[in-house]
Amino acid sequence: MSMEISTTLTESPTSDAALAEVLADPGFGVHFTDHMFTVEWTPEKGWHDARITPYGPLTLDPATAVLHYAQETFEGMKAYRHADGSVWTFRPEANAERMARSSVRLALPVLPVEDFVAAVDALIKVDERWVPDSEGEKSLYIRPFMIATERFLGVRPSQHVTFMVIASPAGSYFKGGIKPVSLWLTTEYSRAGRGGMGAAKTGGNYASSLVAQQEATANGCDQVVFLDSEEATYVEELGGMNMYFVFADGRIATPATGTILEGITRASIIKIAESLGYTVEERRLSIDEWRDGVTSGEIKEIFACGTAAVVTPVGALKWDGGEVPQAGDGSSELTNKIRSALVDIQFGRGEDAFGWMHQV
Ligand code: PMP
Repeated sequence: MSMEISTTLTESPTSDAALAEVLADPGFGVHFTDHMFTVEWTPEKGWHDARITPYGPLTLDPATAVLHYAQETFEGMKAYRHADGSVWTFRPEANAERMARSSVRLALPVLPVEDFVAAVDALIKVDERWVPDSEGEKSLYIRPFMIATERFLGVRPSQHVTFMVIASPAGSYFKGGIKPVSLWLTTEYSRAGRGGMGAAKTGGNYASSLVAQQEATANGCDQVVFLDSEEATYVEELGGMNMYFVFADGRIATPATGTILEGITRASIIKIAESLGYTVEERRLSIDEWRDGVTSGEIKEIFACGTAAVVTPVGALKWDGGEVPQAGDGSSELTNKIRSALVDIQFGRGEDAFGWMHQV
């Protein structure tokens, strides 16, 4: 299917001066572009009424299903401006496929991959001047999301669904340069259980992570680490990033449990690390292996990865009654190498050897 998209442009676009001010220091998730993309779904009509309209508030009936039962999925990705002015997204079909998997789990309809990519492209094209230049690794953050919009309080899959795309210029994640993130190990809260929705990108997972993140902050840590819910033994992921462990013998391990959100960055790093000659293991990794590996020196580097921060070194790990220091000597050699390889592809500074970039 290829969707027909109608376009209604805003009559009051952001002025050049105001936009320049925003792009000089965009922060994260506070400024939004002039337009948004919307398409509706019903069982009778399938996906229909695709449109670009001026950005603005939604009018929702108070009985709208998503407001009560959180039947929703979302994605997070970025558009990058290359030195020649062209604009590119990174593996957009991978985000589309992940949203399809998330939506199946949430009993939402699947938006075809080509329509997802067309929707994202259409919004970026109409708001192209909002894509910052690559200086300081700025980008345009893209937020596709799908919500249950039927006005009905019964608990069953919504018979009206809305998919939208909004976009927000994003500054560098690390303003004062890359510094290790300190982690708090929560022993009280889990992120996901067997048969739950940990592998889906859906709001409820983030709502449930907030109290654990509050605990991390109260204990002076940047981010929270979740363990598996059954044995509280195996490392899963951070609130919004996946994890990697680099061993002194050249192996690299990343947790695979079936209950983590499988990051596009995580999947891309597997390919990059293999191309650099490393063996990547996707497996369960216990908190004891973390502690003992750092103590013995067998684990040389630990890093976290995701769309927002790309790749970031992990510092100390703290929990109620204990602490493990940063792994290795803090040089983060491989961490930095992988980060550069990825960022160079995204910003068009390095060869796109895997064919990951998509020109808008
Ligand atoms: N885990 C969680 C819980 C996340 O929210 C994210 C961000 N989407 C990630 C991992 C990393 O995924 P990605 O590399 O696709 O951004």
